[in-house]
Amino acid sequence: MTTPLYSLSITDRPTLDLHSLNNESREGNQIQTRMVNVIDQRGELHNVNAISGDMFKHIQAEHLFHIAKANPDLPLCAGCREFNANRINADTDFIARTKGMSDADTVSEMLRTCALDDIEGILITEGNRSVPRKSVVEFGWVVGVPGSVETDSYFHVKYANERGSSRRSEDREATQSSGSNLGQAIFHRPASSGIYAAVCHLELARIGFNDITQEYAVDANQRALRTRALLESVLYTFMQPKGAMRSAQAPHLVNLEGAVSVSSAPVPAPTVSPLKDEYREQMARVVGTMERITPGATTVYTFDEMNGFAEIIAYLLENSVPYEMRYA
Ligand SMILES: [Zn+2]
Repeated sequence: MTTPLYSLSITDRPTLDLHSLNNESREGNQIQTRMVNVIDQRGELHNVNAISGDMFKHIQAEHLFHIAKANPDLPLCAGCREFNANRINADTDFIARTKGMSDADTVSEMLRTCALDDIEGILITEGNRSVPRKSVVEFGWVVGVPGSVETDSYFHVKYANERGSSRRSEDREATQSSGSNLGQAIFHRPASSGIYAAVCHLELARIGFNDITQEYAVDANQRALRTRALLESVLYTFMQPKGAMRSAQAPHLVNLEGAVSVSSAPVPAPTVSPLKDEYREQMARVVGTMERITPGATTVYTFDEMNGFAEIIAYLLENSVPYEMRYA
């Protein structure tokens, strides 16, 4: 039996060791790690390192791009076919053919033209317009659980092959005159290890949905294909968190535990931040209470390792379709 999915929440704790997915800036030869303030479950303030939701959204969008590129049934606009950050604004043909169209018609044409812009959201600004599409997928900060996360800074050297005095002064002059970086250099690079708290939410009912006309611009089959691609891309985001410094500091993904909650009617998929230790039990209790409000509408699945998460996504791919909103 296939279950309609209205919304889906992923709440999890990845254990990531020795990564620098969250480098934000450089001061001299010191690379800075992004730090944020959070309040823990006992109301105490902590300063911990964190990876921004933008980074995870970008990782997910890139996985979705690769899935869509490999599937001729998933349309991409000219911008997204090259993973251009301007997306449909870089599609000159789209911009030309929607010139003079109403905002509602422009959104419908965008939804038909590009699965990536449909799912990730876009602000169409080209041609002096401002037509928004709100993203179907949302990520929160992936933030260190207080007391279970640490950042250290490590010393690195870029060695020069030849260090004779004439070569050193030549390199120094080149560095000053042209900005090239030929000389020997020292730098400090951070690596963080810890248990992180991640939240992600998918509004599956909105896939292909024009928020202005309150109608779907693509058919049920296309919506099912896009839902499938989105769920797959979210799975890959946690399996392979891409990001900064991966060439030398790819993260050790030690474990992934968490919960996936889904709703099959217009109610939110319950979620509790994994910054709280008992988040999975809390979510199960909320689902239990929801049975008294909207029986059968919400379900929660928990997992203790990466494969458990993959199994839940595989189960949902095999047994669900996106919910269809219908207004009389
Ligand atoms: Zn696009």
